[in-house]
Amino acid sequence: MIQKVLIANRGEIALRIHRACKEMGIATVAVHSEADRDAMYVRLADESVCIGPAASSQSYLNIPAIIAAAEITNADAIHPGYGFLSENAKFAEIVEAHDIRFIGPTAEHIRLMGDKIAAKDAMIRTGVPCVPGSDGGVDTVEDALKTGDEIGYPVLVKAASGGGGRGMKVARTRDDLAEAFRTARTEAKAAFGDDSVYLEKYLEKPRHIEIQVIADSHGNVVHLGERDCSLQRRHQKVFEEAPSPALTPEERADIGKKVCAAIKKLGYLGVGTIEFLWENGEFYFIEMNTRLQVEHPVTEMITRVDLVQEQIRIADGQKLSFKQKDVIFFGHSIECRINAEHPQTFAPNPGTIQEFHAPGGLGVRLDSGIYTGYKIPPYYDSLIGKLIVHGMDRKECLMRLKRALDEMVVSGIHTTLPLHRRLVLNDDITKGDYDIHWLEKFLAENIQES
Ligand code: ADP
Repeated sequence: MIQKVLIANRGEIALRIHRACKEMGIATVAVHSEADRDAMYVRLADESVCIGPAASSQSYLNIPAIIAAAEITNADAIHPGYGFLSENAKFAEIVEAHDIRFIGPTAEHIRLMGDKIAAKDAMIRTGVPCVPGSDGGVDTVEDALKTGDEIGYPVLVKAASGGGGRGMKVARTRDDLAEAFRTARTEAKAAFGDDSVYLEKYLEKPRHIEIQVIADSHGNVVHLGERDCSLQRRHQKVFEEAPSPALTPEERADIGKKVCAAIKKLGYLGVGTIEFLWENGEFYFIEMNTRLQVEHPVTEMITRVDLVQEQIRIADGQKLSFKQKDVIFFGHSIECRINAEHPQTFAPNPGTIQEFHAPGGLGVRLDSGIYTGYKIPPYYDSLIGKLIVHGMDRKECLMRLKRALDEMVVSGIHTTLPLHRRLVLNDDITKGDYDIHWLEKFLAENIQES
């Protein structure tokens, strides 16, 4: 049985994992950079180890330092959280080679899904519908034009190693394609050290709907429904909800079944998310994330399954404690990502929190490590917390979200809270009538007058 977990991450997710461990009677080891000494997750962990200077390359991405920290503290497992090393197959291999359990899928699956071209190919072979596009990678402008002519414009050039919405370029017409192809490759090379790209039909009005799956080492695979993450800025999620206002129970059951069959065929282990675009009632696979997602709490709220605890049990070789028929979707949940950013320009705004008041009450959850006097370091992602609410139905959930957003106080820095307060009152949002381009349009129309 796992007795001590080293958490190879920082911020709200390190705290989230710590909480799951404590409820299971498992000891925790926090690792931190010099800039994160005063972080809440470091204070709460049973033990902590400084693994390097502020720069992530020398701390949170520093594999030898993390392994050394696990060895000196006698941790028997490592949870990578999201971002940083969570989808690094080599890291998973190194952890296992040191006789430490990696809380996540096998290196083989991380590698397969990390290459989006190979991932699409694997999904097509297991019968999952994909966005129409190139057959594998595209190496030359001529090949790109040929594929563009076949699938029809607009098309999207995407990086095979892409992530975080980077390395993606739209070509509205044939004339734009050569330029889009070249810039996507250059961006991909700079961001991921890999300039392989592929082409996809650019969907004009899709929703982003993703399915959460969980698989143990005994062949059991269960899906926990979907999350609708259509509210995005620059292809990055801002606001997520479960269930999707667009899906019927039949559509949910149908896609859930297809996804579970594919995951079983692939022999996947642990939690994973299969991301789709959904348009006119059809699902199109775009990628699979082989880790815990930022937005996992909305699934937890409507299923009452603790995904982190399940990850730990699976890494421990235990069987899933529930079957598909035991998963009951209860009510509605929405998550707002709170970033230390200017609500109109989105410029990062690290600094000291002068005053902090957390919202509370029935159905309100705040996953955040901030406190009054906390100094947000400028070196990392600007996400400082997630406000998650639950209601018996979508209407109650939105009213509760509005109430919780109104109660929350974070002063001394700019945050995206004012944006969320505006979104929650918007007619299209209350009707659930939005697609992946909605927020960009809203921001373009509203930013000047606000
Ligand atoms: P990343 O790994 O960088 O997050 P994804 O493939 O998951 O990239 O796509 C991120 C977002 O980009 C999607 O949620 C969607 O908003 C947009 N996107 C991706 N593929 C398409 C497509 N074929 N058509 C339209 N939008 C797309």
